Amino acid sequence: FEQSQSELISLLASFKTLSLSKAVRIDPLTELPLRYGIENDYALYQKEARRNRTLLYVAMIDVDNFKTINDTYGHPVGDAVLRQLASTLKQSLRSDEPLYRYGGEEFLWLLKCKSADEARKSARRVLAAVGTTPFPVAEDEALRLTITLGLALAGEAEELASVIKRADLALYEGKQNGRNRFIVAEP
Ligand code: GH3
Ligand code: MG
Ligand code: MG
Repeated sequence: FEQSQSELISLLASFKTLSLSKAVRIDPLTELPLRYGIENDYALYQKEARRNRTLLYVAMIDVDNFKTINDTYGHPVGDAVLRQLASTLKQSLRSDEPLYRYGGEEFLWLLKCKSADEARKSARRVLAAVGTTPFPVAEDEALRLTITLGLALAGEAEELASVIKRADLALYEGKQNGRNRFIVAEP
């Protein structure tokens, strides 16, 4: 009995470690995974794309003028806006396309598709979903939110850091060109 008891205790201990390590990887605000798993998922998706001859894009998503939202309505409203946005984004993506909270008001999306045209359609769909989901700030006031996306096609052997860098540059270009749009990086 004592032996099985000590086995049980050690099992419980490892279970606790496991659930803790999972807990720190989920963002409590948006309930999206944090960036820690990206590297692993990217490698898997890249391999899958190579095998199936499909395409993998990395999309960086950044909320437009988010600082103004915080400044105007306060940080708690900003938090709630982020939570709603995460849910809108998640709903507009396919279930096998991971979405991470990459940083403050930035999200990273791994986008699987068969053509560049399909990628553009998906990006357009996400923009439309955000554009048609206002956030209610008062009884008679709704906040219209927009995002900008930078997309980069992952090379067959390209490192994640390199794709992210190109997606970031595309995002920056989208901000310069007026926001509320997506830009696809040149390969
Ligand atoms: P741009 O369109 O160029 O991206 O403008 P921006 O205002 O969105 O960009 P900027 O980087 O100046 O501001 C981002 C703001 O996001 C600043 C920061 O305080 C806020 N922020 C980041 N994380 C959170 C969060 O978890 N909650 C809230 N409420 N605000 C956050
Ligand atoms: Mg930002
Ligand atoms: Mg921003």
